[in-house]
Amino acid sequence: MEVLSIEQIRSWPKAELHLHLDGSLRPSTMIALAKEQGKLDAMPAQDPESLATAIRGIDKAGSLEAYLAWFKVTLVLMQTREALIRVASELVEDAAAENVRYLEVRFCPLLHVNEGLTLEAVMTSVLTGLREAGARHGVQANLIVCALRGKHARESLHLAQLAVAHRNDGVVAFDLAGPEAGHPAKEHLEAFSHARRNLLALTIHAGESWGPTSVRQALLVCGAHRIGHGIATVDDAELLDYVVRHQVPLEVCPTSNVQTQVAPDYARHPISRLVNAGAFVTVNTDSRLFSSWTVSSELLRTHTECGLTADQVRTCVANGFRAAFIDPDQKRSYLQELEEAIQA
Ligand SMILES: [Zn+2]
Repeated sequence: MEVLSIEQIRSWPKAELHLHLDGSLRPSTMIALAKEQGKLDAMPAQDPESLATAIRGIDKAGSLEAYLAWFKVTLVLMQTREALIRVASELVEDAAAENVRYLEVRFCPLLHVNEGLTLEAVMTSVLTGLREAGARHGVQANLIVCALRGKHARESLHLAQLAVAHRNDGVVAFDLAGPEAGHPAKEHLEAFSHARRNLLALTIHAGESWGPTSVRQALLVCGAHRIGHGIATVDDAELLDYVVRHQVPLEVCPTSNVQTQVAPDYARHPISRLVNAGAFVTVNTDSRLFSSWTVSSELLRTHTECGLTADQVRTCVANGFRAAFIDPDQKRSYLQELEEAIQA
């Protein structure tokens, strides 16, 4: 049986579709920003190595809520133009280092206005960082604007309007993130409708920490084009059949799911059941800092620990490009490059 190596996977051109900006800082940058901003006391450690060790504690987060609490540590540092540009640029650089050629980065602009930045300044800073670093490193980096389940529907609509206003300079989609329990996606219907009517794509976090009803609502009520996580789909045979029949892309993030304990371990993670059922699965990190993984190591893990065959892993890589929110010619070109790299 063919066994893939990390070197092989790294050498292939890849896409990453589910990646949170505020979960993907470098520990060294966090310490540097904390020093610059006089916020070292707000950090759980005072140097990059100890900070990286402290962040490993997230492996024992045990719930989505505990996992999300870690974002407070990064967000406090991401309140200036300079910090946002730097963090966005470095994320693109880190993706380029493992041959990720296409990236969709997501974030909620509302979480970056605590020190006086306008939403517009937040957007232009992140878009500038992505665009400039993308040009330097040969990565196409687009942006997804997230609304949050716990916020008021009015704020979600405002964010959808902000996303639409930047549709022509790098925003490709609108998303809803945050704890699912008690916060149904349908409460934000007006925001989804505004995004869709203005030609933005929709991806919604669903079926992560809540069951298949959450996926049904995101797809069938809110009109999502892709589902963030979606792993609870395996618990509903009819829904799984629908998702397979319509080839709805699922943005699966195995390490994140084990950290939040929505999957007990890698061996029992639903990804192999989804793939074997014929679902359209992509593999992502969710957050590079918190998972401490690259998309390459995440793909390897699906192979060595979750039970995907080499062919299934290659299909997941190609699916990353197929499900990207870009035009068909671009997809064909990326897929051609992937095919050539696999044959090499
Ligand atoms: Zn996510």
